[in-house]
Amino acid sequence: MKNIPVVMIIFGGSGDLAHRKLYPALFNLYEQGLIRDNFAVIATARRPWTHEYLRGQIADAVHETHTEVNENDLADFTQHFYYQSHDVTNVGHYETLKELAQELDDRYSAQGNRIFYLAMAPRFFGTIATHLNDQHLTSSGFNRIVVEKPFGHELASAEKLNQQITASFAEDDIFRIDHYLGKEMVQNILPMRFTNPLIKNVWNNSEIKNIQVTLAERLGVEARGGYYDTSGALRDMVQNHIFQIVTLLAMPEPKDLNASSIHEAKQELLAGLIIPSEAEIAQHFVRGQYLGSDTTFGYLQEANVAEDSATETFVAGEMKFKNGPIANVPIYFRTGKELKEKKTRIDIVLKHRSNPYGQAHSNNITLIVDPNMEIYITINGKKISQTGIRRENLDYNFSKDELAEVPDGYERLLHDVFVNDSTNFTHWSELQAYWKFIDAIESAWQKADQAGQKPAQYLPYRMGPKEADQIFERPTEHWIYE
Ligand code: NAD
Repeated sequence: MKNIPVVMIIFGGSGDLAHRKLYPALFNLYEQGLIRDNFAVIATARRPWTHEYLRGQIADAVHETHTEVNENDLADFTQHFYYQSHDVTNVGHYETLKELAQELDDRYSAQGNRIFYLAMAPRFFGTIATHLNDQHLTSSGFNRIVVEKPFGHELASAEKLNQQITASFAEDDIFRIDHYLGKEMVQNILPMRFTNPLIKNVWNNSEIKNIQVTLAERLGVEARGGYYDTSGALRDMVQNHIFQIVTLLAMPEPKDLNASSIHEAKQELLAGLIIPSEAEIAQHFVRGQYLGSDTTFGYLQEANVAEDSATETFVAGEMKFKNGPIANVPIYFRTGKELKEKKTRIDIVLKHRSNPYGQAHSNNITLIVDPNMEIYITINGKKISQTGIRRENLDYNFSKDELAEVPDGYERLLHDVFVNDSTNFTHWSELQAYWKFIDAIESAWQKADQAGQKPAQYLPYRMGPKEADQIFERPTEHWIYE
């Protein structure tokens, strides 16, 4: 693999994301030779760490995520890391950072290439982007910026943040990361749709009755109550992960697999995203909050959550597009905290066709993204010794060895940033469409709040409020995964 010269600067270098995901992923890329001799990483945060302390943290992070580690390689790898105490709101600190970056660039012959990774609370993204620009942190080689989610709080703040970032970075150099796009089964959606005539030929609005996307979490808000209460399930999960999955499910076939062709196909689809009316939102969307149990707090009792909060920990709703192969097919989605189990699952429900046997069921195509990875097609067949029809699943599974080979989403996506492949990152025009949809729902909910309506309540560790079973367009529709 090509050795890419670069100085990478991580803002939020002492944080959870950097520790659990970025450092282990960088080590794997180092082991593969993508970064080797000509790279340096500057981790910044406010704490007064030393280079040595940071290196110890990085070694810990690698040990915590790997069963086998080549200790010589790890020792060499950590020597490429430097710590810079930095308050992102202090303009003077950017000058020190710039000097260190230049010094490391010279020492490692990094050819003026820079990657800036914003792994911090989203309220700082705009400040960092502004100071990267006014303090001239970009250099003479490539300059790429990776921005974590959420990108904005609604369309207006997303637009403002985008302006702050585009002051120093071109759209092609902005990597808006959504780690769902690095997941094996999410990356399997397009090959599954376009390489199998069996699937491709039914992927249209005369054969598909509806699509159902579920992102269920078992955990509650944990220690993140304060942040979560300003966000909610719609902004936290639908605006990014669910929309990315739905876009891959509904987009037209790209003319080839170049990043620009994939983004073009997505944009073609999203130009036809239907923004639901208030009446449609009232009918096809449900927001919910989890209740407490003997051993757990309800959402309203969680630390740092307002006791009369209307923030949703669950949402179910519908998306539809005017164009693309499944134009006007309802795509139902739901996501929530404290649900039955952690599971990300997609069900494609085919229309039922009348037949001489009468009682046959619809065929479904199911993709399990998390925590296991699986595709299965539910089909009908003959019962062996009785008359009648039985249902069976045709399974596509992964062996233990194959599962062990699957890289973490962050490793895949960081690799793509190094090699400048933006296929699996969110383009600004996509994000605009997502926010327009989210803003319409939030605005309808605000009106509902003013009218005294509250989110539906649900018992923990089930499948959300019962109202979510009533969002369907037709009485014959129901959730396949219960
Ligand atoms: P965190 O709170 O663990 O880390 C935040 C970092 O910012 C720390 O290093 C802290 O020292 C630093 N910081 C705070 N104020 C600062 C200031 N004024 N100047 C300089 N540094 C300052 O957060 P996290 O969980 O690592 O999340 C970071 C980003 O990644 C967020 O946008 C989050 O939404 C996103 N994200 C995190 C995860 C995850 O698994 N943790 C997953 C997906 C996305």
